[in-house]
Amino acid sequence: MLYRALPKTGDRLSILGFGAMRLPQKKGRIDEPRATAQIRMAIDRGINYIDAAMPYHAGACEPFLGRALSDGYREKVRLATKLPHWDVVASRADMDALLRVQLQNLNTDRIDYYLLHQLGLPDWLRLERLGIVDFLNCAKADGLIGNAGFSFHASYDEFAALVDAYDWEFCQIQYNYLDEQHQAGTRGLRYAASRGLGVIVMEPLRGGNLAKMPPEIKAFFDEAEQRRSAAEWSLRWIWNHPEVTCVLSGMNDEAHIEENLKIADEAQPDSLTPTELEIISCVVTAYRKLMKVGCTGCRYCMPCPAGVAIPECFDAYNAQLWGNKIEGLFRYLFMVARPLRDCGDAYASRCTQCGECEKKCPQHIEIRAHLKDVAARFEGLKLRLLIRLMRLIMGFKRRKNLKRGRALLP
Ligand code: SF4
Ligand code: SF4
Repeated sequence: MLYRALPKTGDRLSILGFGAMRLPQKKGRIDEPRATAQIRMAIDRGINYIDAAMPYHAGACEPFLGRALSDGYREKVRLATKLPHWDVVASRADMDALLRVQLQNLNTDRIDYYLLHQLGLPDWLRLERLGIVDFLNCAKADGLIGNAGFSFHASYDEFAALVDAYDWEFCQIQYNYLDEQHQAGTRGLRYAASRGLGVIVMEPLRGGNLAKMPPEIKAFFDEAEQRRSAAEWSLRWIWNHPEVTCVLSGMNDEAHIEENLKIADEAQPDSLTPTELEIISCVVTAYRKLMKVGCTGCRYCMPCPAGVAIPECFDAYNAQLWGNKIEGLFRYLFMVARPLRDCGDAYASRCTQCGECEKKCPQHIEIRAHLKDVAARFEGLKLRLLIRLMRLIMGFKRRKNLKRGRALLP
């Protein structure tokens, strides 16, 4: 296993982290014996970073890890989890209460890497008014958390503002060869590193899609001297960036864990050859041609005066490329509908057809026409039901956790 140090602290993290959001399941629940064996095997082989969050596995992830990391495994890893700061966190005391619940869930007295979950600039501004800076500073001073960071899925401008908003030790971004210009992107990765933040990468395979190899893509990889799986190409491309500290993989299959561990023994920064980088660049171009809308995510079209999240709409629409219909809907739910966020929705149907965006799009995309297709594809009954269900479940769970946390406060 290779390790890379966090710039501000020198803490050495394994370049492969274990993401606990897609643990193996049996009858709709975490398959505890199998998931425990997988995590312990990964730790025995050198992984020292485990990433959790309160909502993962409908709230079962943190308590599971509390059990899985017994027998001395807790001491061998840096444990990361995230503050679900959305709608029900209405005061500084609520933050304290949720942290207490998470410590109890994880059966630990300290969370090594604590993130504000899926933070956007409007969320930060609200949390700032509620006392988040004091909360983070006090939690650190009291030894309840080690390092403070945030996970992120919005635009580069928001990302840069957030990086500068607090003295973070690290951040977590979505990054892979198709997302160079999407969300924080390469610009964000470099900016965070230039400000001394460690960067944890999530979605290295875009939810597993980049591990698949459509024939049009395979043709390019077949030209390479080295035979590699599509997953290996994706992971090596990310680790080729020296600014990346650790890559999270949501692993639940023994063969995949084995493959990832093997790659993580070798993937040095700046180790891909110009020819290999050229192959990946051809793969990206080929993917763009396969996509329904050839949007690169550059965001030159933004902001839209009507509030449409144009690149996010197309990102969800393009998810159909991998033949997984539900994935596009979920991307639309989280990135465009945003039912739990402070910034409100950014639906394609908000488009007033003003045409301003099309004048700025370097790809000359017929944005207005495509947005009509996007709205027709996603903004139906299924989305409305999903939003209602999500609000109901998440609201209920968080209120329950807050009640439990308040009872734990001194
Ligand atoms: S055409 Fe629609 S999406 Fe484009 S800027 Fe105008 S309102 Fe926004
Ligand atoms: S300007 Fe064009 S390519 Fe860039 S994000 Fe907007 S729609 Fe996509």
